[in-house]
Amino acid sequence: MPFMLPSILRNVFSGPATRPYPANPRQPFADARGELVNDPETCIFCSICAKKCPSQCLAVDKELGTWEWDPFACVYCGVCAEACPTKSLRQTNVRRAVARDKQSVAVQGQPKPKKSP
Ligand code: SF4
Ligand code: SF4
Repeated sequence: MPFMLPSILRNVFSGPATRPYPANPRQPFADARGELVNDPETCIFCSICAKKCPSQCLAVDKELGTWEWDPFACVYCGVCAEACPTKSLRQTNVRRAVARDKQSVAVQGQPKPKKSP
């Protein structure tokens, strides 16, 4: 027992080793791979992000001007954001919020009518 005394005293007089979540949540690390954000003003709906996605959780329709992301199927690899030619798609360091229902994230831009032949 005496050999444990330093540890006991240290633990008695130091603060708790855990954080009182959710009152005091951990702040995200600078390089953490978190949620995706797409800017409909600069997205050209080229589908490159969807073609590169290993999880197939992106759906892009150029004619309708829609971009849709399923954050529950995403593995947060960041490949889509790296491949985006306009940099309209970026990956933040904020992790996905807890949710009760599965909902995708949709972005509506300007529809691009099909060119007539
Ligand atoms: S987010 Fe980027 S890669 Fe994806 S459709 Fe828009 S412009 Fe293309
Ligand atoms: S972060 Fe990875 S898995 Fe998620 S949408 Fe982008 S490419 Fe797909």
